[in-house]
Amino acid sequence: MDPIRMLLFLSAAVCFILGLKLLGRADTARRGNAISALGMALAVIGTLFQIQGKSGLSLDSLLPVLIGVAIGAAIGVPVARKVQMTAMPEMVALFNGFGGIASLLVAWAALHVGMARVDDGLVAASTFLAMLIGGVTFTGSLVAYGKLSGKVTAKPVLYDGQNLVNGAVLLVVLIALVWFTAAPANYWLFLLVLVISLFLGVVVVIPIGGADMPVVISLMNSYSGLAACAAGLAVENNLLIITGALVGASGIVLTRIMCKAMNRSLANVLFSGFGAAEGAGPSGEGEKREHKAMTPDDAYYILEAAQGVVIVPGYGMAVAQAQHAVRELAELLEANGCEVKFAIHPVAGRMPGHMNVLLAEANVPYEQLVEPDDVNPSMEMTDVVIVIGANDVVNPAARDDTSSPIYGMPIIDCDKARTCFVLKRSMASGFAGVDNPLFYGDNSYMIFGDAKKTVEALLAEFKEALVA
Ligand code: NDP
Repeated sequence: MDPIRMLLFLSAAVCFILGLKLLGRADTARRGNAISALGMALAVIGTLFQIQGKSGLSLDSLLPVLIGVAIGAAIGVPVARKVQMTAMPEMVALFNGFGGIASLLVAWAALHVGMARVDDGLVAASTFLAMLIGGVTFTGSLVAYGKLSGKVTAKPVLYDGQNLVNGAVLLVVLIALVWFTAAPANYWLFLLVLVISLFLGVVVVIPIGGADMPVVISLMNSYSGLAACAAGLAVENNLLIITGALVGASGIVLTRIMCKAMNRSLANVLFSGFGAAEGAGPSGEGEKREHKAMTPDDAYYILEAAQGVVIVPGYGMAVAQAQHAVRELAELLEANGCEVKFAIHPVAGRMPGHMNVLLAEANVPYEQLVEPDDVNPSMEMTDVVIVIGANDVVNPAARDDTSSPIYGMPIIDCDKARTCFVLKRSMASGFAGVDNPLFYGDNSYMIFGDAKKTVEALLAEFKEALVA
């Protein structure tokens, strides 16, 4: 490899690693994104050098890459500008899918033009895997996108003998992998598994409920990295191997974090059809016990006297699009001499970082966002907790009731605060479909209604008091 290209590829790899590190914190994430984009630019320039090295500097040789970059930018820039924050998982799903098909095409092209040295067993297996994983990622991500955007039914699609069919398909794929590795001249095997991989992507994702799609997307992200890594081995490109490994590893780490925060195994997410069971959704069980309701006018008097308030947002805040009103409420509370924190549960909402994204959009300062572990120890000293459209992530059954389906999931201990306001529309259960003892606690008050309307009613009380 010539030194300039080596330097460019090395710098790109460093940018990717640094970018990934910076993406780990909300306040450095933008910089991380910019550094990663710089890394990608260096990688493209390095590739241009590679082409130039092979076929000499001519417009003809560079044109395909430049056209590809132009088309990609023409689609990517407006789409990224236009996309709603809440539609981000759908966009990531599509990007993962395109990453998968790109690896598939790289492997196919490398095999087709004889660039992949498939007489070497490792290269043959890598070429095969790049195509296989790339194909699964492509169609699997498209189904995930369809489920999230409502274009495909969000309900798990289950049929008798599903696992048997999937198992049989996997067995065929494994046999083909071994066969192709041993005898790569069998091009038809490659083409057969190409078709199977596209089919496999669909059948592994359709049995999963729409609400679990964020976990699937994170897993597909990991797959797209693995496919790229395998494609890198197929075409012997170190940068592709490094970036593929980074994406593969970070995707699987995120998948693990999400499963752990929900206290569910990956197998449970992938095979149980969770979230679409009969029990999910409004259970009505809560009506059997007594809860206390309060109006925003009465809640105002308690809030007005509070010294410390913790706001716990959840999926309902996203549904109500209440984040701007919530930020305004926090500002008024602070202006009233109260300390305000936002406690963010890692799986609140329906996608990783859902609450962070919404609150960032509403310009809530990063310093006000805290994690459950930071806020739980001081919960007993907290005057008021305002739960805004959250349910499962504040359910004490997850902590206390060993028979609860969500037992073991870490929660925010809102039941321990001096006063707890729960803003939601009814006594219905959340995503997990289980009743929430928090709603019946001595110190809990339900403020029924759409979260945005309730917060606006509280704001009106504060503003009225300021005018008076
Ligand atoms: P939940 O789904 O547990 O509860 C949301 C609550 O919001 C509901 O009980 C609902 O009650 C209320 N709500 C809905 N619309 C409104 C509205 N307009 N105004 C006021 N309230 C409203 O949400 P959480 O955030 O507490 O928990 C997230 C759940 O999703 C967890 O179980 C998690 O495991 C799961 N999950 C999370 C993922 C992630 O990446 N974050 C991915 C996959 C699953 P009501 O109808 O009475 O108003």
